[in-house]
Amino acid sequence: MRTVTLLGATGSIGSSTLDLVARNPERFRIHAVASGRDWAKLADVARASGARVAVIADEAGYAPLREALAGTATEVRAGEAAMVETAAEPVDLVVAAIVGAAGLAPTLAALEAGTTVALANKEALICAGDVMTAAARASGARILPIDSEHNAIFQVLEDVARISRIVLTASGGPFRCRSRAEMAAVTPAEAVKHPNWSMGAKISVDSATLMNKGLELIEAHHLFGVGPERLGVLVHPQSLVHGLVEYVDGSVLAQLGPADMRVPIAHALAWPERIATPVRRLDLAAASRLDFEEPDRERFPALALAEAALAAGGCRPCVLSAANEVAVGAFLEERIGFLEIAEVVADTLESLPAAPVTTLAEVAAADAEARARARSFAAQRARR
Ligand code: NDP
Ligand code: MG
Repeated sequence: MRTVTLLGATGSIGSSTLDLVARNPERFRIHAVASGRDWAKLADVARASGARVAVIADEAGYAPLREALAGTATEVRAGEAAMVETAAEPVDLVVAAIVGAAGLAPTLAALEAGTTVALANKEALICAGDVMTAAARASGARILPIDSEHNAIFQVLEDVARISRIVLTASGGPFRCRSRAEMAAVTPAEAVKHPNWSMGAKISVDSATLMNKGLELIEAHHLFGVGPERLGVLVHPQSLVHGLVEYVDGSVLAQLGPADMRVPIAHALAWPERIATPVRRLDLAAASRLDFEEPDRERFPALALAEAALAAGGCRPCVLSAANEVAVGAFLEERIGFLEIAEVVADTLESLPAAPVTTLAEVAAADAEARARARSFAAQRARR
């Protein structure tokens, strides 16, 4: 029996995780569920999973959550400090599935406590990769990747000393075949409609700009300890091959599977064992083709921005990610256009100097500064 704390329990990854946990009651027991603001949904998932603890980040959610869980054995907590304390409580596995920089402090708390972390919250590694991996090394905590490409690499990576290259695949998103002129006019609804995956709004927009793949290169660098010269991207519109590792002898090992996040989540939950999932089986004869192409960095400049941030290191990935969160938010609220997302990120990167970051406090400062700049660049564009 594995005890699990689920951070981001009300989201897309959270729901898929709860589905798998519910199908395997003899293997997993939920200790705590946590979310941001949606107290009603958090109450539902706490009841359904029998969680001992429910934590809501938004303190205004405390009273309604408590009321909604009256008569249950679930203890209700609220606020960021409670989130961090809960993440540090001893369990077998913390699933880190909060979206964005809000996930950093609780993920770090779990790693510092020595708990195995199944990581979906890629921003934790992108913004504070060195801090997270140092904490994991110090406590002996393991990070199991949930992000599908990284989970794929984790499944086929034997020894990082014997590889020549890691390749992450990208679907290319909903605008893979659109011109820049066409992309200038796309709406949030079109950007969020991903061709192959059903995901939260922020990551769906990141997939459409290819920023997601750039962020994933940074994530891969920290997870696998591989430099940018050995990390590559291939656009693969069918999303059936999730990642490839090329060994020094020329062998390439790839992981394939249906485009369903329950596959990598199940892998991380059960590792080193495997559990059955209800996903549709991969039918290669029905798929009939697997296409691959080079990403187009001119139509999708966000990818190049992320690659440059990875190469520069220090605070650059954090600045990139923070500015991107702000820009994506502005786009989703229809204050800026789709192409302006990458422009706001580029402006923010240009306006801030490179600096090393070695603590979570330094990361938080870089993040705050980048957000303030990005907000003002987005506002300038919104006025036009
Ligand atoms: P969703 O938007 O669907 O869910 C986000 C979750 O984070 C919700 O539970 C939300 O709670 C919670 N949350 C937001 N703000 C806070 C906060 N301040 N404190 C605590 N919890 C908070 O996102 P996804 O599930 O799609 O993505 C989660 C993470 O997984 C992201 O980092 C994403 O990049 C990554 N990921 C997702 C994939 C996918 O297929 N969805 C694939 C690969 C990676 P509430 O609703 O209550 O506000
Ligand atoms: Mg991914």
